Amino acid sequence: MKRILPVLILLSSPLSFADSFVFRNVTVFDGRSETTLTSATVLVMDNAIADVGEGVDVPVDATEIDGKGGFLMPGLIDGHTHLSLIAGPRELQDMHWDEIGAKMAIRAEDTLMRGFTSVRDLGGPVMGLKAAVDDGTVMGPRIYPSGAIISQTSGHGDFRKPRDPHPFLDGGSSQMQELGYYRIVDGPDQVLAAVRENLRNGATQVKLMGSGGVGSDFDPIDSVQFRPEEIRAATQALADWDTYAGSHLHNAAAIKRALENGVMSIDHASQMTDETMKLLKAKGAYMNPQWGWNVFVMQAGFLTDFQRQKAAIVLENIDENIRLIRKHDIEVTFNVDAFGPYELWSGLYAAEFTERRKYFSNLQILRQATSVTAGLLAMSGKRNPYPGKLGVIEEGALADIIIVEGNPLDDITLLSNPEENIALIMKDGKIVKNTLQ
Ligand SMILES: [Zn+2]
Repeated sequence: MKRILPVLILLSSPLSFADSFVFRNVTVFDGRSETTLTSATVLVMDNAIADVGEGVDVPVDATEIDGKGGFLMPGLIDGHTHLSLIAGPRELQDMHWDEIGAKMAIRAEDTLMRGFTSVRDLGGPVMGLKAAVDDGTVMGPRIYPSGAIISQTSGHGDFRKPRDPHPFLDGGSSQMQELGYYRIVDGPDQVLAAVRENLRNGATQVKLMGSGGVGSDFDPIDSVQFRPEEIRAATQALADWDTYAGSHLHNAAAIKRALENGVMSIDHASQMTDETMKLLKAKGAYMNPQWGWNVFVMQAGFLTDFQRQKAAIVLENIDENIRLIRKHDIEVTFNVDAFGPYELWSGLYAAEFTERRKYFSNLQILRQATSVTAGLLAMSGKRNPYPGKLGVIEEGALADIIIVEGNPLDDITLLSNPEENIALIMKDGKIVKNTLQ
């Protein structure tokens, strides 16, 4: 990992006057169109793209960047990450909080250095990390935080150890609850309080656990979680804040219940049906699956037999889900859902690109990881901490830009090895990596 911290500090100094950069000798992918521009100039002023095209008026003090024929595109966007899950839940219950915090800072920097300039963090305590990134202390992507995962008792977010007392029935607590990883709540009133507490802490959207999942101990994968009235308590309170709920969902009954009760972000979505695909489209909700996990899940040493059986059910349904995505012409977002030890975390990022290649064209994957997932982030409405357009290269968009050596439209796996293949990373108009010179 090459650290270029001094450059960041210099450029982010409040004393430095407005910075402008001009990119030349690049192939420009705008985040949407198959047609790239080969003789265009991209001008960045302050933190926005000021102009794209031929014959751009360039200020005399603009810093010239020769892209050496590289592929200039929007910074990548991950729609589902967990920057605070630097280890599995069992380890996090006992780890020193300062070890967790230190590792989270490195995880944020590594995420940015993989070319991801924005992430939606779908659960866990990252508000402090976001503040440290935004004030320039820590390098990292733009973070759209959800705050504590909201789960019912024995739901997918009930990460208590087997004998831990219940927070309400027994007045118990756990380290992960105290640090803000999860809240175990039952009934509309408790759900409402938990949602509002997250909003108070700066959540840009909220994460519910709507069905059983793989990596937890007390929830069958077929279980439907939260009653309709509990889900509505959350989605209505969020709509009042001009934002939305995302929900962890695997089985079809839970997906249907979530969509019918106002959930706009269907995460994992591993068992869609014709009925839920139609409902998803009618509601304008997003489908946020990931496939990189398929490579790792069955050999992950930390899974119990119960968890492995649950993973098998998810894997069995991949082909049917892909068939439905094609049939209903759904634009899925890009999500890694990476967590755990560093090797697993970085392996998942690499695998997400290579696995998607089995089902999508390189252009589709590039769109997913830029403009499509930007649409998901923008659903946070007035709670969006970074107003402005993301995921596109166009006049007025926020200046989140990467330059890839080689052409990802020909080989998407270039993005699986960012240290080698991404030559330049700019976030919010500031260069955080540059190996072009
Ligand atoms: Zn997740």
